[in-house]
Amino acid sequence: MKICTTIKDIRAAVAEMSKQGTVGLVTTMGALHAGHMALVKAASNAHSNVVATIFVNPTQFGNPADLETYPRTETQDLAMLKAAGVAAVFMPQVAEMYPDGDETIVETTGLAHVFHGLVRPGHYRGVATVVTKLFNIVGANAAYFGEKDYQQLAVIRRMVRDLHAPIEIHGVPTVREADGLAMSSRNVRLTPDHRAAAPILVTALAAAEALLRSGETIETAADAIRATIATEPLADLVAVDIVDPTTFAPATGTPNGSIGIMLSAQFGDVLLIDQKEITL
Ligand code: AMP
Repeated sequence: MKICTTIKDIRAAVAEMSKQGTVGLVTTMGALHAGHMALVKAASNAHSNVVATIFVNPTQFGNPADLETYPRTETQDLAMLKAAGVAAVFMPQVAEMYPDGDETIVETTGLAHVFHGLVRPGHYRGVATVVTKLFNIVGANAAYFGEKDYQQLAVIRRMVRDLHAPIEIHGVPTVREADGLAMSSRNVRLTPDHRAAAPILVTALAAAEALLRSGETIETAADAIRATIATEPLADLVAVDIVDPTTFAPATGTPNGSIGIMLSAQFGDVLLIDQKEITL
């Protein structure tokens, strides 16, 4: 497995790989877990070579403390990627990604400012900007993103469509712990009490799904999520949004077809998000 820290080196590595067939890309911020590895597996199943990136992107963090305490487990990450057969890892320094005088941003001007974008100002602009840079640097044929970060996936799909970026985007279902909690690099920062409380997110999504399947409205389902989270004193609900997964417009009334439910809550100083897409 090649480990590249410069744009020049990763481009040279990908140029070699492209002679053998297509290249799949998995972008991460490290602290890898089985969720990330599911993306690697999906990419390996479809491409001759997989490139992974590890870059804790400063521009997508609103809170400097969150950036500083973001878990970093580089040695273990590289061992996991190597064991999964990844051909090359790109792990640049911040200055390689954001050169002196850097002033260009990429923003989905609508989608970045609704739903979770409202509670995380600037977050999706940071994501769209760094993902554009990574797409331009690696030049992969396809990239794989987790459905867990539901709005992020929608932002990336929109950006690729609007900018005619020559890359296919694939979503991969959320990988969960045995008790249902969505795997996240942030889970290691939960206290034992907050960790025990966190599966309330899954309980709340299940309550909403049951109501929607029994013909109740979006508003009733959203109320059920709020009521369920309120039963857990260690969870503070941040946002609940129920959307049309294609247009990402807010859903209302009694849905039929597909519905995306997005949920986020604070457990101490850790923000956790979860999602569920259902077809009625
Ligand atoms: P991150 O390192 O948190 O930026 O995540 C990198 C990629 O892994 C993103 O596309 C995430 O959506 C995806 N991902 C993170 N957690 C999971 C999970 N539990 N299941 C599936 N994909 C995930």
